[in-house]
Amino acid sequence: MSIIERLSKQLEKPKEQRPLGSGWLSGGGALLAGLTGLLLVFVLKFPGLFVTPDLMAIHESGYLRPFLHIVLLIGYGLALTSLLLSKDKVLGGTALALVVVASLLGGSQTNASGANPTSLYFGLDFFILNVLFVGFLFVPLERFFPHRADQTLFRPEWQEDMFYYLVSSMLVQVLTFLTLAPANFVTGAFDLNHIRSLVMALPFVVQVIIIMVVTDFAQYWFHRMFHQISWLWKFHAVHHSAKSMDWLAGARMHVIEIALLRGATALPMFTLGFDPAAIQVYVLIVYFYSSLVHANLRWDFKAIETFLVTPRFHHWHHGKEKEAIDVNFAIHFPLYDRLFGTHHMPEGKWPEAYGVGGDPVPTGYWQQFLYPFRKSG
Ligand SMILES: [Zn+2]
Ligand SMILES: [Zn+2]
Repeated sequence: MSIIERLSKQLEKPKEQRPLGSGWLSGGGALLAGLTGLLLVFVLKFPGLFVTPDLMAIHESGYLRPFLHIVLLIGYGLALTSLLLSKDKVLGGTALALVVVASLLGGSQTNASGANPTSLYFGLDFFILNVLFVGFLFVPLERFFPHRADQTLFRPEWQEDMFYYLVSSMLVQVLTFLTLAPANFVTGAFDLNHIRSLVMALPFVVQVIIIMVVTDFAQYWFHRMFHQISWLWKFHAVHHSAKSMDWLAGARMHVIEIALLRGATALPMFTLGFDPAAIQVYVLIVYFYSSLVHANLRWDFKAIETFLVTPRFHHWHHGKEKEAIDVNFAIHFPLYDRLFGTHHMPEGKWPEAYGVGGDPVPTGYWQQFLYPFRKSG
């Protein structure tokens, strides 16, 4: 059995086999700290390759190195705790090895080598931030208020979805470029100065709300098209192939679909003269919101479900049963589904199962990447 398989097996242990004091929690925590530490060392060592320019403020704040130092110390402490407590030493041992390697590479004192800033970068720092922030918010929430209580953090196919998370975060620059290309074309081809000056004069919060309303309209029809046209559906079916819904499941999306979706929804955003800061706030809202609507949370959010998309609303979109097919396309405002006749929210009910009927989509990132290009079977 490979080390990865042994690690997965340990992490996926059912709750009753890992009571408090069994070294599982400290081992998992140590592994998270070790991985975070090692990735951060890479970010510091190869800033030209892994740093997202939009996050420059964080890199220049001077907090990153002390943060890394603390992460490595915590990782070291937790790894030793797990090694003492646990019968199977694979979690604690691997975590300890990661912390040691990160320290040998210089730890928080590591120096940049190959620092030449390049025009091509992979946002490893963005991935770390994304997973830590969203994870630290949703992991405890899903643990204490689950919709499906038997589902754990390391449910089947969690590695695949984590890999999707990594790919889409690291390709943030490539995807932004693809997003901007059509917008630049439209700005060049039409004279929109009048509308642009009107938009620029609006208050910040109003701009963010308008961006949400306009992009969700574009997104609604784009999404519906991906359900209706069969060759597009094969790309989108990847997103629907998730059988477990949680904060990670939303990341599962074919990279081509992300590029097309961003291109289409960004068109109104970038051509109508919105404040770039308002666009950035919107992008952060989307990241958070996407995790929320896929999350394994039992709350109905009754007070807001008429106006805003809730987990139950989007869970129905992922339902496997007949009544859940082609409903609830909106991402922010259920109003669009009401207007266009695709709204489905049976009182107090949740779908029985998630996924695509007949399970046509294979498992694994690369199999799913190739799936839309294969002859249908
Ligand atoms: Zn869909
Ligand atoms: Zn979804």
